[in-house]
Amino acid sequence: MIFRKSCRFQAGMELLSWQEKARKELVGLLGMERIFSAPGVELAPQLIWERRNQYGKITKLSLQMDADFRNLVYVCIPDNATPPYRTFICLQGHTTGMHNSLAVDINDETTPIETVPDDDFAIGCMKRGIAAICLEQRAFGYNSREEGHRHECMFHAMRALLVGETLLAQRIFDVDRVIDYIYSRDDLAHDSIGVMGNSGGGTVSLFSGAVLPRLTHVMPSCCFSSFEKSIYSLRHCTCNYVPNLLHWGESSDVAGLIAPKPLVIVNGSQDLLFPLEAAKEQFSMLKNIYAAAGAEDKCVHVAGEGGHRFYADAAWQEMLKFF
Ligand SMILES: [Zn+2]
Repeated sequence: MIFRKSCRFQAGMELLSWQEKARKELVGLLGMERIFSAPGVELAPQLIWERRNQYGKITKLSLQMDADFRNLVYVCIPDNATPPYRTFICLQGHTTGMHNSLAVDINDETTPIETVPDDDFAIGCMKRGIAAICLEQRAFGYNSREEGHRHECMFHAMRALLVGETLLAQRIFDVDRVIDYIYSRDDLAHDSIGVMGNSGGGTVSLFSGAVLPRLTHVMPSCCFSSFEKSIYSLRHCTCNYVPNLLHWGESSDVAGLIAPKPLVIVNGSQDLLFPLEAAKEQFSMLKNIYAAAGAEDKCVHVAGEGGHRFYADAAWQEMLKFF
């Protein structure tokens, strides 16, 4: 198959006009228009509980995302920092959901659990003096009706296609609503809003960084390779598929829409779903885009010596140079 890649970045292109055109077309492919242009609704936060862990205060809230859907977040404020707090929005992938970010059991949300290494994103933020907002993604965790909170992506992704959307766009919309929530609070900095996640959470981080202007820092993990050699060639969950994406461009082009913002891309050398060699090829193309933005040093590639997981120490060591 020959892919047209109509929005591929080419050397010598004027960066801002390429970004404007490529982003506009990507927004179209994602099917973002309807959900983003619907009449806005109040966030109407509702407190579910407030607790402490050893690093600070955790509040569980529900927020109105759109007219049809309320979603859940944990707002995690660290003791070892002062307002206005810098914040990272934390996104789980195909796990049992956002409770993993706090490393607590999903049922009582207090009993400690062992997660996949470094999957406790919110704990990792709080330890570093960074506030975390854990967002339950659509079809994951509390938003799944599957037994044991297994992901329910197929149903949601197919249903989104029926109305010209993608599940990916709906998840990006929820990230934008969390940013609305951050903007509604004076104790959270509005100029330091990062997004991070692993696997399905990394994908939403990457695409959110590409299309949401208020995000300032992006740290996607185990979701970056080439679309052709990963999503097209290997068996992935339904939520990864965006119609016509391969005719639009490649993963380096999506990531290039984030330039010049700080971007730390994490891979695992043994991650069979997102092959590292293809990721390295794409990253070298991405470097050209960041160089065109005069920000070559603001995009960093971190490869952990293991499989499909986040590598907190190596990733944060790079991100904290910018954040
Ligand atoms: Zn999925």
